[in-house]
Amino acid sequence: MLEKVLIANRGEIALRILRACKELGIKTVAVHSTADRELMHLGLADETVCIGPAPANLSYLNIPAIISAAELTGATAIHPGYGFLAENADFAEQVEKSGFAFIGPKAETIRLMGDKVSAKDAMKLASVPTVPGSDGPLPEDEETALRIGREVGYPVIIKAAGGGGGRGMRVVHKEEDLIEAAKQTRAEAAAWFSNPMVYLEKYLTNPRHVEVQVISDGQGHAIHLGDRDCSLQRRHQKVLEEAPAPFIDEQARKDVFAACVKACIDIGYRGAGTFEFLYENGRFYFIEMNTRVQVEHPVSEMVTGIDIVKEMLSIAAGNKLSYTQDDVKIHGHALECRINAEDPKTFIPSPGLVKHFHAPGGNGVRVDSHLYSGYKVPSNYDSLIGKLITWGATRDEAMARMRNALDEIVVDGIKTNIPLHRDLTRDEGFCEGGVNIHYLEHKLAEEKH
Ligand code: ADP
Repeated sequence: MLEKVLIANRGEIALRILRACKELGIKTVAVHSTADRELMHLGLADETVCIGPAPANLSYLNIPAIISAAELTGATAIHPGYGFLAENADFAEQVEKSGFAFIGPKAETIRLMGDKVSAKDAMKLASVPTVPGSDGPLPEDEETALRIGREVGYPVIIKAAGGGGGRGMRVVHKEEDLIEAAKQTRAEAAAWFSNPMVYLEKYLTNPRHVEVQVISDGQGHAIHLGDRDCSLQRRHQKVLEEAPAPFIDEQARKDVFAACVKACIDIGYRGAGTFEFLYENGRFYFIEMNTRVQVEHPVSEMVTGIDIVKEMLSIAAGNKLSYTQDDVKIHGHALECRINAEDPKTFIPSPGLVKHFHAPGGNGVRVDSHLYSGYKVPSNYDSLIGKLITWGATRDEAMARMRNALDEIVVDGIKTNIPLHRDLTRDEGFCEGGVNIHYLEHKLAEEKH
C-alpha cells in the first residue's frame, strides 16, 4: 500500500480522502491556504502544510508549492480530489516526474480526455456511441461549416474543445446564425480555455444526463459500478444525483456498460473515472469523460458497497483491481443532495459563520461534510459545504429517508439550498423519476412567475 498521501484539496473531499487513507493505515499530509486554517480534516491529518494565501491560484493551484510540501513531508503519493488540479495533465506529469505516485490516470490520458474533440474520437474508436456532429473540430471555412450544420440538422450546439464547468457552449437554431455563433464561441474559448478550437454537435432537445462510473487498474482490468442520473441541474451544474438511473432501457444500458469497460481497456485507463452521456429516446450519446473522482461518487458506493476512494489508493500503489465485474451487484437505490452555502432563491453565495450544525442520522443516512458548529465558510472557494446521501431498498425508501434527513439537518448562521432540496424531494415529477436536464430550470422559472 501507499505509505503517505498528500491531499491536494480542501473541504468535504479532502476529509473523504483522509478517512479512506486512515482506514487503510496510510499516513496523511493535509495542505491548506491561509483562509482554510479551520478546516476539519487538518486536525485529523498526521501533518499539515500551509501552501499559500487564500486565492486558489496562489495555493490549491500552485503546483510548485504542492510539490515542495510533498518533498518536505516525505509523502509518497498525491491525491488531487476533484476541481483545482485534478484534471491538469501538467500537474500529473510533474507529480510523477518528481517521484510521487499521482492518484489518477496517466498525464497522457488526462490530456486525451481533457480535449473533448480527441476524447470523442477515442470513444468512437472504442465503439462508445457519441452525439452526431462534426467529426473533429468545426472548420473556420464558412462553406464547410454550413454544410456540416446542414448534414447534422438543426438545432445544433457549438462547444469549446477545451471547455468545462458548463461554459463555452452555444445552441444554434437556424443556419443563418451558425457562423456568428461559431465566431463568438471561438473567441470565448480562446479567452477562457486558451484554446479557440470548437466543434459542433446535434443539440438534443430533452435528454437526461446519465453517467457511468468505472474503475480500471491500467493493467488490463476494468469494471463499471453502474450508472447515475444527474439530470437535476441548474446552469449545467448538478444539484441532486441518484443511482441507479431510473427507467433506462435494459439492453441500451448493458451495451453502454460494455462499451465503457472496453474503452477503459483500450486507452489503458488507470483509476476511477466517469463517462458522461446524454440519454434520449432509449439511446446513450457520449459527451465527455471525467478523469477523477466525482462529487456524486457516494451514490455509486452506496448501491455497490465498493469504496471508490480506497480502490483509487490501491490502484495507485500498483495493485490490480480488487473486484471482478461479477463481484459488482447493484443493490437498492441512493440519492445525494448537494448542500451549498447559497441563497435558495437567488443562488447568491452565502459564506460566513455556521453558528450551529446538526447532522441528520438513522438507517441508510450518510453525511459527507466538513462542517461543524463554529466553522466559518470562507468566501474564496466553491459553495459546496456538504453532501447528504441516503440509501433505501427502493427509490421510494431512499426518497423518504432523504425527506427525513432534510427535515432533521440544521445549518444555522448562513443561508443554504436545503429548502430547495426539501421542495425537490416532494416534487411530483421528480419523485416519479426520469425527468430531463431542463426540468429544474423550468420549475424554478415557473415559481418565479
Ligand atoms: P462541461 O464539461 O462544461 O460540463 P458537457 O459537455 O459535460 O460540458 O455538457 C454539460 C451539459 O450541457 C450537459 O449535461 C447538458 O446539459 C448540456 N449539453 C451538452 N452537450 C449537449 C448536446 N449535444 N445537446 C443537448 N445538451 C447538451
